[in-house]
Amino acid sequence: KRITIAIDGLSSCGKSSTAKKVSEHLGYPYIDTGAMYRAATLYFLQNNISSDDQTAVTAALDNIQIGFHRSEAMTNDVYLNGVNIESEIRKMYVSEKVSLFSAIPAVRHLLVAQQQKMGENGGIVMDGRDIGTVVFPKAELKIYLTASPEVRAQRRHLELVEKGENVGLEEIAENLRLRDFNDMNRAESPLIKAEDAVLIDNSEMTFDEQVQLTIDLANQ
Ligand code: C5P
Repeated sequence: KRITIAIDGLSSCGKSSTAKKVSEHLGYPYIDTGAMYRAATLYFLQNNISSDDQTAVTAALDNIQIGFHRSEAMTNDVYLNGVNIESEIRKMYVSEKVSLFSAIPAVRHLLVAQQQKMGENGGIVMDGRDIGTVVFPKAELKIYLTASPEVRAQRRHLELVEKGENVGLEEIAENLRLRDFNDMNRAESPLIKAEDAVLIDNSEMTFDEQVQLTIDLANQ
């Protein structure tokens, strides 16, 4: 049976890399829902729409087309209105604003509906903040990933430096703190562990160990 796997958790605790690896192993598509919130945020920033102006944000939603297409590197790159924005959306100026736009109900309703459509037939790995609680509350396997703040900031720092972005560890740690706070305290579908999600703290685990654990759980 092709099951639905929901992976949620705090910022930068390895959700996407784990989800991607598990999806390759199982032969399922992988959807990075954070990329969708980041893509929408990029649109608002490019068009000078403030997260304080909910009317403007809501009106702009009709102009936002988000899609995923396989790149030459065989990764699923995210597109905004036909343009590949995979690397742009990982930059700090997007990370700084994304949790503000993600808290707006109209933004969530639109993206959640698209995510539910993408996964309607099962056989999918999706990662985010509300997949096991809101998008697919009936998912057969739910994982809630976490890691210590220090480990998360270090991993994120390494990732951004490898991509050539000049950003300090403390700036990243501060951004993670702020996003986690916003994501856990917003009124609309805040980040919480679904009751039936398996909690995995990967601070002390290798990447391969947590991938294997997830695959074992999926095969149960
Ligand atoms: O997963 P990633 O860290 O790229 O997500 C960026 C931001 O998008 C999160 O901090 C959160 O504000 C938002 N998000 C969300 N719901 C999701 C996925 C991401 O609110 N399902």
